[in-house]
Amino acid sequence: MSKVILGGGLSGLSAAYYLLRKNPASCLTLIESSNRLGGWIKSNQIEDVIFEEAARTLRPRGEPGINTLELIDELGLSNKVNPITLDSPAARNRMIYANGQLVSLPSGIKDLFVRNPPFSKPLIRHFIKDLVTAREVNKDESIYSFTKRRFGEEVADYLISPLICGICAGDAKEISVNFIMKDLFEYEQKYGSIGRGMMYALLFKKKNALNHNALSLRARNEKWSVYSLNGGLETLTKTLSDKIRQHKTLELKMNSQCKEIKFGNPSASITLDNGSIQNHEHVISSIPSYQLSNLIKNSHPELSSLLNNIKYVSVCVINLMFDENIIKKDGFGFLVPPKEKIPILGVIFDSCCFPNKTNKNVVTVMMGGKWFEEYFSHEMTEEELLTVATKYLKLTMNVKKDPVAYKVNLLKDCIPQYKVGHNENVHKIEDYIKKNNIPLTICGCSYYGVGVNDVILSTRNMVQKIQ
Ligand SMILES: Cc1cc2nc3c(=O)[nH]c(=O)nc-3n(C[C@H](O)[C@H](O)[C@H](O)COP(=O)(O)OP(=O)(O)OC[C@H]3O[C@@H](n4cnc5c(N)ncnc54)[C@H](O)[C@@H]3O)c2cc1C
Repeated sequence: MSKVILGGGLSGLSAAYYLLRKNPASCLTLIESSNRLGGWIKSNQIEDVIFEEAARTLRPRGEPGINTLELIDELGLSNKVNPITLDSPAARNRMIYANGQLVSLPSGIKDLFVRNPPFSKPLIRHFIKDLVTAREVNKDESIYSFTKRRFGEEVADYLISPLICGICAGDAKEISVNFIMKDLFEYEQKYGSIGRGMMYALLFKKKNALNHNALSLRARNEKWSVYSLNGGLETLTKTLSDKIRQHKTLELKMNSQCKEIKFGNPSASITLDNGSIQNHEHVISSIPSYQLSNLIKNSHPELSSLLNNIKYVSVCVINLMFDENIIKKDGFGFLVPPKEKIPILGVIFDSCCFPNKTNKNVVTVMMGGKWFEEYFSHEMTEEELLTVATKYLKLTMNVKKDPVAYKVNLLKDCIPQYKVGHNENVHKIEDYIKKNNIPLTICGCSYYGVGVNDVILSTRNMVQKIQ
């Protein structure tokens, strides 16, 4: 009997890749409900320009970053890497829209000692607050309350809240501190303050040596900040798809939606939307947690409800091309703190990040996320959504002309929200699966990190454990 992978997004493709790399003779079936592989990663070529529908840049650092670069190298894509180096404006200039204007965030040590709007005092004074504030013992808390306690309200409002909008389109007041600040939170819990914890780590903590590869060393030497691939990030998922398709032992079932899973011991039966039933020895689910929750709600209601605790938000992504210069100051783009109470999450300056041959200005407006229902409805037409985006480009960047090309993408339930208690909930899911001996492995962005690097590495680690 074979193993089955549910979902052909980045995680499902990575699962197939790593399983087949480990054992090229494995019998695998991959079931994908749509007519294409790649999930949310989709790059549309418009004239000479790439309009990314979702993910666009990857970080080269840390274990997950190094792992992705290893994969890119193994797939023969090293010569397609398109980096943004640390000295470029796109890496140095990150802005927020606050109090009616675009302001650059500090980008170097000396910026910490001067007062820059919207902050009422130099940032160094916020960091000193951390050193003199008593520890508060907590199991988990929101990233907003943590940064407000340690650094003050302005840091929580103007640095952290927009960052969370940029990473997961979420509200820092709900998202767990363990989402991106696990180390800093632990420093406070263990050493009393972040500053003290950092000093301790610097002086005494043995750093785990990272397992570099040729491409990650190149990234380090050439000082990449972030990178993409020629042709857009879909080059990665397309190449992964081509690679796994070469294996004769892989069966790809496109346009096939899994409707129900019944777990027996030691096998599982999968019902597809055409009514057919397949039996497999092990299920690897890379589909969103709420989808998996639906598939097992009759047989495992408790597991189903744990999976359903992970909520998703919808994002509207609007790519726009202009034939005049609308970007007044080069940079990565800007994010909008939620306290500004406008419906956009941020704007990415694509043509500053990756200049195109035609010198067209390309930007992407991201809207909605946690506030989608407040500002939009899923029934809004493309024209209505475009009108909102252009209205706020006018407000924030003073753009008066109409775009010469655009694409409106409404991504329903696309980003999971790792709210306070997320890790504990995932542990309960894992425990339930283990205790009940269910032949199921979970992977994908619902559980162990929402970014491309996290998805690839956690999927690799999860499928490694399958016998
Ligand atoms: C707007 C946006 C911007 C982003 N930007 C970045 C970025 O710049 N950098 C970064 O690192 N990450 C970014 N990400 C995150 C990154 O895109 C995701 O982590 C990654 O694509 C998730 O892949 P996945 O395979 O886990 O899920 P998905 O892409 O959701 O794949 C799941 C697949 O399962 C299929 N499926 C669902 N239900 C069923 C079923 N019942 N039966 C069969 N098949 C099913 C779906 O059709 C889909 O193909 C962004 C995400 C979004 C939405």
